[in-house]
Amino acid sequence: MKKVLILGSTGSIGVNALDVISRFPEKFSLECISGHNNLDLLAEQITKFNPRFVVVKNDNDAEILRQKFGKKNDIFVGENGLRIAAGELDYDIMLLSIVGFAGLVPALEGVKRGKRIAIANKETLVVAGEIITSIAEKNGSEIIPVDSEHNAIYQCLAGERIEDVRQLILTASGGPFHSTPAETFRDITVEQALNHPNWKMGNKITIDSATMMNKGFEVIEAKWLFNLNGEKIKVIVHPQSVVHSMVEFVDGSIKAGLSLPDMRLPIQYALAYPERLESNYVNTNFSKLHKLTFYDPDMEKFRCLKLAFHCLELSGTAPCILNAANEIAVNLFLDGKISFDRISEVIEAALDNMPLSQNPDIDIIFSIDRETRNFLISKYN
Ligand code: MG
Repeated sequence: MKKVLILGSTGSIGVNALDVISRFPEKFSLECISGHNNLDLLAEQITKFNPRFVVVKNDNDAEILRQKFGKKNDIFVGENGLRIAAGELDYDIMLLSIVGFAGLVPALEGVKRGKRIAIANKETLVVAGEIITSIAEKNGSEIIPVDSEHNAIYQCLAGERIEDVRQLILTASGGPFHSTPAETFRDITVEQALNHPNWKMGNKITIDSATMMNKGFEVIEAKWLFNLNGEKIKVIVHPQSVVHSMVEFVDGSIKAGLSLPDMRLPIQYALAYPERLESNYVNTNFSKLHKLTFYDPDMEKFRCLKLAFHCLELSGTAPCILNAANEIAVNLFLDGKISFDRISEVIEAALDNMPLSQNPDIDIIFSIDRETRNFLISKYN
């Protein structure tokens, strides 16, 4: 029986993870869940799954849950609550599915304790990949990716040596605008951008998919997860999202991870690894797939992807600036303050103005994140 912590249980990864866990009551027990913006759903999850501990956003939410469930000592609050959950509770696996920079603190606590982290939070590896992976290695902490692309690569690499890899080929759905002309990007509405063709996800990541920044982050994550240099990571657009990613080896052989898209597959793999548990989430029938297509991404049209490759090359604090600036830019777009085509412009403004340094420690990461946000908020509000 593995004890599981789900940080971010009310988001789409968290909800899917609870579905997986509910199918294997003899394999997994739920130690703790956390929710930030959807207290009603969190309360429903508590009723259904009865976790020993819960983390909520603030004291007010904690009070509401205490009145509803009548328990006193099992609710933690805010960022410190996440730190306690990851750093002090007794668990085997942390599913880190919190959105945003807030994922970094629990990730650090988990790797320090040598825990397995099923990682769905992007920011952790984008902003602090070098720090997190080196602490994880030192403490024997396994980081197993939940993101469909990295999970496919992880599976392709099983039994292989990393020095035998010629390149990783990350597939991208291309988002809803892969065939939209660049000249009309200015007119893209929030509603159009939130309508992703293949995956149902939260707002932030859906916009990141539409700009292809999501793929850019995945390139940076892949570098740290698989300890490869950036030139060995390639992106190819594959609108059907059936090939989740591929690995080409030095002899020219290629392994690919395929299935119809369903996030429960990679979540279950990461929770059960190295076991494989029986499931019937998808039925990938090749005779019904008709065709799978692939083409190169247009880096001029999707400038965010180009910026991510650029930041990977710059390294140091650049990916942290990229991440913070992107989060602000996406919020500006969602709030109707900038048009879709200006998301990359906001990010470039940050990269041009924030100081770049190499080998940052975790304190520098936190301060450059804050400074980047402050700079952009005062510039654009
Ligand atoms: Mg992905």
